[in-house]
Amino acid sequence: HHSNETILITGGAGFIGSNFIPHFLEKHPNTNVVNLDLLTYAGDIRNLKEVDNNPNYRFVNGDICDYVLVKKLFEEFNICGVINFAAESHVDNSISSPGQFIKTNIQGTFNLLEVARVLWNGKKNRFHHISTDEVYGSLGEEGFFTEESNYQPNSPYSASKASSDFLVRSYHHTYGMNVVTSNCSNNYGPKQHDEKLIPTIIRSAIKNAKIPIYGNGKNVRDWLFVKDHCEGITAIFNKGESGETYLLGGNNEFDNLTIASKICAILDIKRPKAKGSYKDQIEFVKDRLGHDFRYAIDASKISKELGWEASVAFELGLDETIEWYLNKYQL
Ligand code: NAD
Repeated sequence: HHSNETILITGGAGFIGSNFIPHFLEKHPNTNVVNLDLLTYAGDIRNLKEVDNNPNYRFVNGDICDYVLVKKLFEEFNICGVINFAAESHVDNSISSPGQFIKTNIQGTFNLLEVARVLWNGKKNRFHHISTDEVYGSLGEEGFFTEESNYQPNSPYSASKASSDFLVRSYHHTYGMNVVTSNCSNNYGPKQHDEKLIPTIIRSAIKNAKIPIYGNGKNVRDWLFVKDHCEGITAIFNKGESGETYLLGGNNEFDNLTIASKICAILDIKRPKAKGSYKDQIEFVKDRLGHDFRYAIDASKISKELGWEASVAFELGLDETIEWYLNKYQL
């Protein structure tokens, strides 16, 4: 470590974090990154191959809930900034077993805040908390979430993220800590865990299996390409105003059935079936409990204040994503 500033990134072996770290290191050649990740089922160290040999990068296998470890890292590396990605992130898992969501998402965030509060001791180092638009609940056919929307979380996952957002907020209001929170819509792109919607559609299609779609397939999500998200996080970390929240969206609203159909249409061209279309494999399955109908984001604040806008066209992002999974699954 030859340069002078080190930030702590948590959950960097997950989907968004492992896209973010190479991006951040490239943009900040004079900043070191310590990546603290527990390598749960969701973390995959192979996603960080590109930075393995980067002298400014260090991996630490551990838990954000571990006060002694986090404190030791702050002291050893003189941590002067935090970006907190670490979380349990899969809504379905939060329905079947919510306990770990409370632990990692709430207690883990609290633990990071506490170490930062005690060790930074009034220094205005940045603490950036990564969160989700799901904290705002569900929209009807019309309207968008903004930074002013009410928190109305509906799943144990979104409730745990909402709680962590509130803790971060309180550390600004109470202790004057330099915090920013960003809440974004569904990300898609390379390195996402197999359990999530888009990888599941691609894998099922190619393996000639049923493509499972919840309920009637009409639930709407806004899709943000993960590399656009990474640019947005960098802008917020560097230039966002302390105490503020920024919403990021991709302006790509589609219902789940449309997403599946788009992927099938691309695969029909890339990997034509002997007979018929991959669409024939789509099957509706029992809906997720408490399934929010629609999420959509008005990202005009970050656009006006920080000049960020999603820039990757959905068709291009989806093509890159599909190529990455075809390669991963060796198909
Ligand atoms: P992910 O599940 O792919 O990755 C989470 C990472 O955190 C994994 O590497 C895991 O090993 C690690 N982790 C879990 N518990 C930990 C603990 N106790 N200590 C240390 N590390 C731990 O998640 P993701 O999709 O990359 O999401 C990252 C963040 O972005 C999360 O906070 C999530 O709530 C938020 N977010 C994600 C999306 C999305 O579409 N993926 C959208 C909005 C917000």
